[in-house]
Order: sequence, then C-alpha cells, then structure tokens
Amino acid sequence: MKNLILLAVQGAGKGTLAKALCKKYGYVHISTGDILRQRASVDDELGTQIKNLIDKGILVPDDLILKTIEDKIQESECRNGYILDGFPRNLEQAKKYDEMIKRLNLDEGIVIHLTLPEDLLLKRITGRRICSSCGLIYNIYSDQMNSKQDGICDECGSSLYQRADDNEESMKNRIDTYFKVTVPIIDYYKNKGILYEVDSTDSNNALISVESILGFLGDHID
Ligand code: AMP
Repeated sequence: MKNLILLAVQGAGKGTLAKALCKKYGYVHISTGDILRQRASVDDELGTQIKNLIDKGILVPDDLILKTIEDKIQESECRNGYILDGFPRNLEQAKKYDEMIKRLNLDEGIVIHLTLPEDLLLKRITGRRICSSCGLIYNIYSDQMNSKQDGICDECGSSLYQRADDNEESMKNRIDTYFKVTVPIIDYYKNKGILYEVDSTDSNNALISVESILGFLGDHID
C-alpha cells in the first residue's frame, strides 16, 4: 500500500480518517500529536518542555520530530504502509522528510489534503471528545459523530475526554500556525504532483473519496 500523508487544519478530521483507514486496511497510524502527548506525560525535563509547547499550541522543535519519524517509519510493522497524521507541519519538515525517505529508500506515497468549510472548524475542535481507552474520536456538535450516550464511547464503553489543548487560546495559535507555516506545504506537494484534495465535511464520504483515489492510482487496497 502507498504511504499516506494527511494534511489539514486542526479539527478537519485527520485522526478520524486515519483511524478508519487503519482499521479497514491495516495501515500503521503515525500521529505525531499522540506520540508527543505520550512523551509529555512523562514527568521529566523533556516531558515538561513538550507539555508546555503543546498546551500553548506551539510546534515542538523540528529535530525532535524528525528523529521520532525516522525511528518510527523504519519499524517492520510500517512496511505495509503507514499514515502520517500531523507531520510534516512546516516546509523544513517536508523537505527533510523527502531526504529521509530517499536515504532510507522508502515510498514517497501520496498526500491527502482535507478541506473543511471555515464555519465548521470551531465546532470540530471545541466539540471534539476522545475515548480514554480506544482513542475513537467523537463530536458533540455533530449528529453523525456524537456518541449515543453522553460522555461514553459507543465501541468500548469507556469515558470520553476533551484534549487539554482544545481550548480557544491554544486553538488560535494552532490555526495561525497552520495558515502561516503549514499551508506552504500544500503548494510544495502540488508542485510534486502527489497532492489530492478531499472534502472532509462528512467523514464517511471523505473515506470513500480516499478509497477512490487509491483505487484510481492502482494501489493494492483490498
Ligand atoms: P495534533 O494532535 O496534531 O493537533 O498536535 C498537537 C500538538 O503537538 C501541536 O499543537 C504541536 O504542539 C505538537 N506537534 C504535533 N505534530 C508536530 C510536528 N510535526 N511538528 C511540531 N510539533 C508538532
């Protein structure tokens, strides 16, 4: 399977789409946000530094992220295909990632750019709730994505929580950063001819669109 890079502003549904694709086709989900949150929960100097940045919605240093990605994509479970969710976040990371996959002789894959009407964005972020056990993502403002019972995961019955950085201050920083430093990556991948746009207003339709793109490209998803 082709490796996928999911690009989108926060709240556009990268995590939801990645989880659906992984469940159906067996990709490995590499979410830099999840990896960093896990590292931030360790009570040491690096953990505290990472936590401070994440809570304010500021990007962590490129070197740390690049090293994390390089280690992860070389793991044997990634050989059948992986999905990058939250990386690259700026042009420097995108260029360094290109060098890395060339050096490691890995597939460059394709980039899916998820788009979402602006008025939906705020609700997607402030309404997001996550299962504390299986990580499924819900949204309290969406009939399609809300849990059947308030605060309880439909799949495993565990409680749902809200991310600490899903608050207005951090969100403003994250959205500003996205438009200033992440959006230039879209043109970078467009110029390479590997970028595909997918509307993520409806998460089921987004999944179907990605499947059609992969089918069209002759990728071996089955
Ligand atoms: P996310 O879960 O993707 O929204 O990421 C949460 C936070 O983790 C971001 O606001 C950043 O502080 C940090 N982060 C995630 N991915 C990256 C990355 N590729 N480069 C730098 N910081 C990142």
